[in-house]
Amino acid sequence: MALKLVLLGPPGAGKGTQAKSFAAARGIPHISTGDMLREAVAAGTPIGLRAKAVMASGQLVSDEIIVGVVRERLARPDAQAGFLLDGFPRTVPQAEALDAIVAGGDALLVVDIAAADEELIRRLTSRRVCGQCGANAPVPAPGQPVPTACGKCGGALTQRPDDREEVIWERLRVYARDTRPLIDYYRRRPTFRSVNGAQEPSAVARDLEAAVNAAAALRLAQGAAIASNGAGV
Ligand code: ADP
Ligand code: ZN
Repeated sequence: MALKLVLLGPPGAGKGTQAKSFAAARGIPHISTGDMLREAVAAGTPIGLRAKAVMASGQLVSDEIIVGVVRERLARPDAQAGFLLDGFPRTVPQAEALDAIVAGGDALLVVDIAAADEELIRRLTSRRVCGQCGANAPVPAPGQPVPTACGKCGGALTQRPDDREEVIWERLRVYARDTRPLIDYYRRRPTFRSVNGAQEPSAVARDLEAAVNAAAALRLAQGAAIASNGAGV
């Protein structure tokens, strides 16, 4: 069965960090719409040109653009055996579009990584990214200084334009208005799970692993029940 995983969660919950290592461990592509858009901005493509100001102000790129990007990405050969979506869907229309894209295939597993606003704000305001190798520096513990040099390559650390404090508030507002409703959209599915994102990364990784395994086992059992029902008809 293909592992089709969607990670939900507010900005700063740690989706990106978890997504990278989880996808690498499972050998499935990590599809981050935020990373794809930032690459498009850096490369100056037509989509990047349209997305740049929208992203810097904390708003969402239009559903139409992002659904097109994801539809194309999921059609590529490496996504046929499974994928991990990080940052998509972010609105109910995007979730509906995704359901249509995967219809008839293996069910989506959806895991929400939850954390309270105060923790999200603390993490986002102290998040720094390496200008040289692109790595995220580990967020300092409360009260600890924000790092200035990359621990991996020594490059200078910078702040993402959308991690400025006034933009963070806007992103959290947009999250509450447009993205949090997705929890209700998915919650009744047996393949939905929620994990506590307000823990250290290794603990979140452990809970994520357990949540995915539990959801996958349930999906397998359901598939078997449907198959045997079908055989009985
Ligand atoms: P975050 O750290 O908030 O999770 P991402 O790196 O996932 O941020 O995305 C950064 C920005 O890219 C978002 O604030 C938004 O402007 C844009 N973006 C990313 N994914 C989507 C999406 N699915 N729909 C619309 N806009 C998106
Ligand atoms: Zn670096």
